[in-house]
Amino acid sequence: MKLTIAFSAMALALTTNAHAQDNPDWTTPTAPFRVAGNVYYVGTKGIGAYLVVAGKQAILLDGGPEAAAPMIENNITALGFKLRDVKIILNSHAHSDHAGGIARIKRDTGAAFYASPGDRWALEHGTHDGQTTYPRGHFPAVHVDRVLKDGEGVALGGVRMKATFTPGHTRGCTTWSTEVIEPNRVLTVVFPCSLTVAGNVLVHNTAYPGIVRDYEQSFATVGAMKADIVLPAHPEFADVLGREARVKAGQTGAFVDPQLLGHIVSDARDDFEKERAKQAGK
Ligand code: ZN
Repeated sequence: MKLTIAFSAMALALTTNAHAQDNPDWTTPTAPFRVAGNVYYVGTKGIGAYLVVAGKQAILLDGGPEAAAPMIENNITALGFKLRDVKIILNSHAHSDHAGGIARIKRDTGAAFYASPGDRWALEHGTHDGQTTYPRGHFPAVHVDRVLKDGEGVALGGVRMKATFTPGHTRGCTTWSTEVIEPNRVLTVVFPCSLTVAGNVLVHNTAYPGIVRDYEQSFATVGAMKADIVLPAHPEFADVLGREARVKAGQTGAFVDPQLLGHIVSDARDDFEKERAKQAGK
């Protein structure tokens, strides 16, 4: 119960702050670490980026803002990988704080970049696609080498990352999931795409008329997913770094929290309904 309240407060705070420009945590380096199985955190203090390792090769999820790209690259090499070992880059969604660094990392690794059809235009133009009240600057455009299908699995070696389209926050917001093997059991890891309103116009959005229906469908889709471990694009939504500190302090299993995804979705849905009513002038 305490956890729920803490996460609600955090979600509220993040609703207003998550996309503020120049959040210093986004470009504050933090050391990489293994989360579980073959999944590693390679992001900064304030922005998630995840390396999913398949033998000597790897898949990278998200590239942070442009200025964080070198920090993510440093984290990949600090884990003992060469940048060239990254073969595939994926993205949660086409916002500058998660996609701004991809062009550079793609160039430096030579990896192929896979993305959803809904976010392709925004990624290839380096801008937000839709009506928003947030100031959203441009970010380095990046060519999409392969356009994904909903439900598709991206495979590398014996590793598979499944794409589930959860649009709303952006048109092509993609929730990724994979399974990891920990001693004695298989754990499902879900990388939920952002579910916050974050400046999106919900009432009379002529550029994205289906936005409300998409959000509602995405709350249902993510809410129905089973997740033993949740690794969001904004790590504070799951207290990823706090959990790592607890693991270091001896609490093995601190990342395993099967209730967490449901809490995140219900908090996001509550915030969405409030924001929708506010925009409608109710
Ligand atoms: Zn976003």
